[in-house]
Amino acid sequence: MAHPLERIYPYVPVAVQNLGISLYGLAWRQERLGGDFEAYVKDFRTRERWTAERMQSYVERELRRTMLHAYNEVPYYQRVWKAEGITRRDVERITLAELAKFPVTPKEHLRAEPDAFIAKNISRWRKLKRYHSSGSTGTPITSVCTAGDHRRFIAAREARSFRWAGSTVRAPRAMIGGRLIVPKGNARPPFHRYNWAEHQVYFSAYHISPAHVADYVRAFNRYQPYLLTGYANSYYLLARMMCEQNITLDYEPDAIVLCSEKLTPEMKHVIEKAFRARAYEEYGAVENCVLATECEHGNLHVNPDFGVMEIIDSEGHPVSAEQEGSIVCTSLLNATQPLIRYEIGDVGIWSAKNCPCGRDSFPVLKELVGRLEDVVIGPDGRELVRFHGIFIDMPTVLQGQVIQETIDQFTVKVVAQGGFGNDDEQLIRRRFAERLGPVNVRIEIVSEIPRTERGKFRAVISKLSPGMRNEVKTQWQRMSLAS
Ligand SMILES: [Zn+2]
Repeated sequence: MAHPLERIYPYVPVAVQNLGISLYGLAWRQERLGGDFEAYVKDFRTRERWTAERMQSYVERELRRTMLHAYNEVPYYQRVWKAEGITRRDVERITLAELAKFPVTPKEHLRAEPDAFIAKNISRWRKLKRYHSSGSTGTPITSVCTAGDHRRFIAAREARSFRWAGSTVRAPRAMIGGRLIVPKGNARPPFHRYNWAEHQVYFSAYHISPAHVADYVRAFNRYQPYLLTGYANSYYLLARMMCEQNITLDYEPDAIVLCSEKLTPEMKHVIEKAFRARAYEEYGAVENCVLATECEHGNLHVNPDFGVMEIIDSEGHPVSAEQEGSIVCTSLLNATQPLIRYEIGDVGIWSAKNCPCGRDSFPVLKELVGRLEDVVIGPDGRELVRFHGIFIDMPTVLQGQVIQETIDQFTVKVVAQGGFGNDDEQLIRRRFAERLGPVNVRIEIVSEIPRTERGKFRAVISKLSPGMRNEVKTQWQRMSLAS
């Protein structure tokens, strides 16, 4: 929120906000879908038909190219590999089987010094784009790429995520996401903004509550987006409320492609019923080192020409199929900030079975474990996912955790670094107020945040019992019906 126009955004009328978003959308459309975008999509679609052998030799060639580039241009790998005694020869001749001999890159290293991962030859000549995320594990990450890299990432999603689901990025689309396009915790409808340039409706993930359902559904029916994307949890919350109120969309979209959280069979069923389209899961990361997409047979395939995925045990050995392990990724598409054997913080399981779709060079993930997260519920019954987004762009927060103690009491645990102070506390309190309205927030500075029994970091914990959640929601519904 640094740009002056972004600062005035909350204070101008909705129509002006829509115009602003559309102008922005026009520029983005050219940047993302212009230039060599179609050529990239074609390449991704061609490779899909290759034999497993041909794909493997392609991936190995790309791996060598990426590793050599990291060896020559990326300060972090130059330093770490040198200390490990890795030579240019090791890098030049690497095969997929030998990748496991290289050290794992912990997420913490990228968080601590993102710029050490940027290729020197690229940062010298190209304009860099920075993306911030709280990641799935509550560790704020800055990822860096160029417009060209970004175009390749979207082309991969178009060829795989969207086309496999029978849709396209060029269709009118909807997104439910975490951008604060609708300001303030107590805002009135509409809870979406419209980008004419891309025929895209962007819905706020922060205003989903029983009283707002009708407004969300009205906007879907009015703009009729055919490709629905965004947070799985947000779609699920909205779909559940739609079912409770006996509402479905009055048209049939092409598909719903969901990311950010694990999509359980129960979530999928409810979403498909309310939105009248098939829901597909997509697994990606802000670091752009991995992309897994669901095929028509309902299996989640890893795209090997996007990034190489390994699943390893606590000793670093590859796990066999049906066994849980930590996901480690090597990006093949991000030349600006190459990540080699990057430990993303998620847990996965390979499937022992091939998929009937025949994409044999696209390994099947049986399951992604540990991306389920708790939902925060506001005093007015609204439910918020990915609440740890409040730590985005806070370099003084090494790690953060949000605990909902009661309906209006929250504890925030912060592992701080480099002068976390009053301003940071105020920012956290302001972000709570923007999302939830008036609630009590207690901020604790701690030296460490305890993990779960399985060693998983939980960014958001809710101590509300299911009974308590329901009580808040029904109480609120009763009040809104009475008024
Ligand atoms: Zn398949």
